[in-house]
Amino acid sequence: MRSSSARLDQPARLVVRRRTEALLRWYASYRRAWPWRSESDPYRIWVSEVLLQQTRVGQAAPFYERFVRAFPTVEALARAPRRRVLKLWQGAGYYARARHLHAAARRLLRERAGALPTTVEELEALPGVGPYIARAIASLAFGVPVIALEANGLRVAARWVGERRDPRRPAVRRRLVAELERGLDYAPAGPLNEAIMELGETVCLARRPRCTACPVRRFCTAYRTLPSPDALPHRPSARRRPLVRAAVVVLEDRGRLWLQRRPPTGFLGGLWEFPGGQIRPGETPEQAAARELFEETGARARSLRWIGTVRHDYSHRSVELWVYRGRVGRAAPRRLGREPARWVPRRAVGRLELPKATEKIVRLLDPALLSPADPPSVSPYRRRPPNFRPTAGPTTPRGRIPHREEAKLTI
Ligand code: SF4
Repeated sequence: MRSSSARLDQPARLVVRRRTEALLRWYASYRRAWPWRSESDPYRIWVSEVLLQQTRVGQAAPFYERFVRAFPTVEALARAPRRRVLKLWQGAGYYARARHLHAAARRLLRERAGALPTTVEELEALPGVGPYIARAIASLAFGVPVIALEANGLRVAARWVGERRDPRRPAVRRRLVAELERGLDYAPAGPLNEAIMELGETVCLARRPRCTACPVRRFCTAYRTLPSPDALPHRPSARRRPLVRAAVVVLEDRGRLWLQRRPPTGFLGGLWEFPGGQIRPGETPEQAAARELFEETGARARSLRWIGTVRHDYSHRSVELWVYRGRVGRAAPRRLGREPARWVPRRAVGRLELPKATEKIVRLLDPALLSPADPPSVSPYRRRPPNFRPTAGPTTPRGRIPHREEAKLTI
């Protein structure tokens, strides 16, 4: 990589150098001891970066430890059955990450005897590895001099240079990357990337940055020129997630629960869930529960009893799940689609690979049904019904009602 600070004049180069040295000194003293820190094994660095993509750092630690304990090498991961990989990922969310990790491990074992490639370009060619993860692995594991830029790094760089435009614009992003790359003249890429991320996670926070505790405030344009440095970077107002309401039926028979598996690919692919689906305009949640149960299993419950409402947020929508408990009536449930569906003994439900929202439903039934080894991943659920206006119908972007399959158990 060409030095980008060579184009700067002498005083500007000195600023970059002092800023980088101050940042690394601070990092050496204040960095948090996460289990992946100081890790030199490329595979473990890869797993941690994949987890940290969409899971908060504090939440990711127990999942990381459990995952690398179960699959300590690329080979161990590649040889594991997919359902075991998904089970170990359970609770961390965004299961596509686990499926991609598994597929990439299989490819690495097949084509490279389990060794990770060392260049950004080759890493990016692996399933689920985007520019950020490729650069993070290359710099942390192999010392390649590249900046791995994610939201924290963008925010820090925007404040350092006083960037007022939207950092998601490619030209702005390039300028910010160039700013961070200047530090590569004075520090190895791995520690520099980690230090920038650590600063963004613990000091240069999105809201209310802790500037008085910041090791580089002397070199920060936002701190020196703005009354509130958190005015940068420019954040266009976030769009509200659409809310989808759905009804779910926990059908019981002699200590067993009826569950069905989702298709292997796509949203929550290969995970187990209870029958259910979106509440249609004009329907009550109970009517939707009875209809969905019949459509998906051919069964009619003897009675349906509301036991709680679960809320779950995905990146693209929120779901409100009205959960009903029913005893099997005269018509028993059947597997109607191509995917497996079956009675599962209550005590065995926790051993299935469950999406987070289904996990919340199981906790609503009985927290003891989940394995105590599962790291907690549950956000609050309600036992009292929120207001529901059946004629309003589910809220969607621009009033569009999603296709039934799209809304199918968005849990
Ligand atoms: S001085 Fe404040 S705004 Fe500037 S980098 Fe430090 S924490 Fe961020």
